[in-house]
Amino acid sequence: MSRLFIFTSIIISSTLIFGFLSLKDNPRTDANKSYTQLSDSTMNKSESDMKTKIVKSDEEWKKELTPEQYYVLRQKGTEPAFTGEYYHLNEDGIYTCAACGNELFSSDTKYESGSGWPSYWAPVDEGKVKLIEDHSLGMVRTEVVCGRCGGHLGHVFDDGPKPTGKRYCINSAALEFKKK
Ligand code: FE
Repeated sequence: MSRLFIFTSIIISSTLIFGFLSLKDNPRTDANKSYTQLSDSTMNKSESDMKTKIVKSDEEWKKELTPEQYYVLRQKGTEPAFTGEYYHLNEDGIYTCAACGNELFSSDTKYESGSGWPSYWAPVDEGKVKLIEDHSLGMVRTEVVCGRCGGHLGHVFDDGPKPTGKRYCINSAALEFKKK
């Protein structure tokens, strides 16, 4: 057997083995899997419950959400001020993401901001939401999205009450209230 033949065989075998392993790890090869695990090396302990991020296609979200929820959560829409079902709600409980159930805000941090949207001075945990700089509509704002499914929730401003001074201005349509 010539050296060239042995060398070529090794290259071909390695390519096949590598190809097989890549295929095995590729979540797209499993058609029934609607979510996938994304590992994030920057994740800290407080985000440990967020290891499972939810990734779904636009079609899947459209089927699962109401048109209003889809408009806000997936198309970054905003419900008209003073119309959301949770704006005036003053009960003890947790506000979860309407798309994925991630626990986002507690009634303990909800306050009357006068803005027309449910307002909170902090999320349940910093890792529950993700903040993104938003330059839309000719303004510079900070968008708040769900840390687990990436759904648009609203924006955060620096005119909130103590102790944080933050105002998380969130669409009711992006939330689901779970009574304590
Ligand atoms: Fe979510």
